[in-house]
Amino acid sequence: MLTLAEKIIFIVLVIVSLIISYKTFSRMFKIINRGKDPIPWKETLKNFPKGLKIFLTQQTLFTTRPVIGFIHALVAWGFTIYVLVNSFDVIAAYVPGFAFFPNSVIGFIYRLFVDIFSVLVFLGVFYFLIRRFIFNEEKLIIKPPVHVTDDVKKGVRRDSLIVGLFIMIHVGARFVGASFAVAHNGGDAAQPLAAIFSSLWQGLSPEQLVLGEHISWWIALGAILAFVPYFPLSKHAHLFMAPFNYMVPDDRPNKGTIKPLNFEDESIEQFGVGNMEHLPQKSLLDAYSCIMCNRCQDNCPAYQTGKELSPSAIEINKRYYFNSHGQEFIDGAEVPLKGLLLTDNALWACTSCNFCVYACPVGNEPLVDILHMRQDKVMMESDFPSELITTFKNLETNFNPWAFNSQDRKNWAEGLDIKTMNEDPNGEILFWVGCAGSFDQRYQKVSQAFAKIMQKAGINFRILGNEEKCNGDTARRLGNEYLAQTLMMENIEMLNKYGVKEIVTACPHCFNSLKNEYPKLGGEFKILHHSEFIDKLIQENKISLKNDENSHKITYHDSCYLGRYNSIYDQPRASIKAIDGLELVEMDRSLNNGFCCGAGGGRMFMEETEGERINEVRTKEAIETGADTIASACPFCMTMLSDGVKTLEKNEEVEVKDIAEIILEHIQ
Ligand code: SF4
Ligand code: SF4
Repeated sequence: MLTLAEKIIFIVLVIVSLIISYKTFSRMFKIINRGKDPIPWKETLKNFPKGLKIFLTQQTLFTTRPVIGFIHALVAWGFTIYVLVNSFDVIAAYVPGFAFFPNSVIGFIYRLFVDIFSVLVFLGVFYFLIRRFIFNEEKLIIKPPVHVTDDVKKGVRRDSLIVGLFIMIHVGARFVGASFAVAHNGGDAAQPLAAIFSSLWQGLSPEQLVLGEHISWWIALGAILAFVPYFPLSKHAHLFMAPFNYMVPDDRPNKGTIKPLNFEDESIEQFGVGNMEHLPQKSLLDAYSCIMCNRCQDNCPAYQTGKELSPSAIEINKRYYFNSHGQEFIDGAEVPLKGLLLTDNALWACTSCNFCVYACPVGNEPLVDILHMRQDKVMMESDFPSELITTFKNLETNFNPWAFNSQDRKNWAEGLDIKTMNEDPNGEILFWVGCAGSFDQRYQKVSQAFAKIMQKAGINFRILGNEEKCNGDTARRLGNEYLAQTLMMENIEMLNKYGVKEIVTACPHCFNSLKNEYPKLGGEFKILHHSEFIDKLIQENKISLKNDENSHKITYHDSCYLGRYNSIYDQPRASIKAIDGLELVEMDRSLNNGFCCGAGGGRMFMEETEGERINEVRTKEAIETGADTIASACPFCMTMLSDGVKTLEKNEEVEVKDIAEIILEHIQ
């Protein structure tokens, strides 16, 4: 029980704390509201159950780093419970005789739970501080040559220390206060840890024990009053903002993708994101949701091979800019992003592998910022790597990213007796061949293998032949949205002209575009990847497979656009496993955690001059499994892994093959 004077002082301090908190919290929302594409807050709040579920279960923390995630979840659960505990402590301080179900089993469980949890949270936070300040754990830092601002360099460690100390002081003081109360009241079986600690107070008078309770209460509750206004400035704003991040309505089929720009809208003067204020509000919310855990860079192919890109640096640089210059931003400052969030080299180093989006426990999408910034570079600034001039020109004139004549698109099918839609549109399914499948000498063999499988299975398929154009993925990921949409619209027109309903393709990039991005532009088709299609043919006994006589050992490399973008992991593996005698071995990084080959996001068409080569890192991992065959299901992965095998001089021992080729070799 507080004295009357203490009660009055506490109320005054609560009012002061709330006034300052209102200012810091509203500053945060004013910053977010300055972005483009307003967050529909009403609809967002309707998704409250979703945000609450994520907050209570902390499920997103376990996607990667499950052990650390569990300790982090303990801290978050501890925080939640402590909101209740603090409320009861305040009531008990004001209402004479109040205690939470003092003589019932509920009260017993409550006190026991709080007793144990206090110690766990204290130790958990202590561990986090040791990890950051003593062990200097590599996962918690962003290494050069990544650009981090001076604000970040100074701020991150300081804020971690402030927050860690706050939690330890608060929880510790509350626990010590409970031990004084236990000593004063002569023991409590429901608080065994506080009871052990209370032995320290043997010999103190009842008055001294009461004084100890009061001092502990003021330290515990006073720390909260001091910390609440600081919340929006600390990384612990994520406690409130991360659930919002998941609640924002999202009609995209998969995360890590951008919405099509509307080129018909003549009022739009800025395409893409060149300044901070051009970012969508959701992107600004990302900065406040960030835990600064660096999970997103754990498997980022660019970061892990020593490039200038770290997805977490994008969010953290953004966040610390707001901490230092938030008021200028609210007042209308125009803030060019060039050199602030990331360097130009970093911007073009991204392979769009989507790992950062998959791994982020708070739903951030650094990849989306990168794609938006590339749009500004290409469409507003004409400032992009020189290699891309040729790529864009080829896409515009040849409808493929290389210099191949579009009239040669059907050459791969010579002698295979395959009809085009133009010759006979009455096929049951369209085989979308893709640029690599049409022109790349190595992948032409995959197109031929897949076509032969379909013929053996009696599938009545067609191709578009010379009427097919690049699906638009490369142009879109490189920021040339206008070119991307032109290609997409022309393809949709062609597909609709022939009344195409179902499409199968061997290219995950074509697959993802056709499946997830064409519908937004009016192209609704049923799309299958050839790995799904082949699996289906096996399941339906339309093809039968013979044993592998040479006991090959195979490892399968997950394409990012098949795996993380579309969750196709099982079907290619099932096809390999359907062949008796083949042994499938997994790489350390596979499935959701698969490491990119380095070719996505248009990287296929750019030089790689910084750090290690991504394809070599991945190929080494594949070779380390002891496999004699690296299986893939993507033309870009095929190229990158084949190059890797050659560079590592392993082409005598290891082959790179597509799933279709492996299956064709084993068809009876
Ligand atoms: S999409 Fe991949 S390459 Fe790009 S920033 Fe994210 S993890 Fe790195
Ligand atoms: S963006 Fe997500 S994964 Fe990356 S540091 Fe922030 S919270 Fe962690």
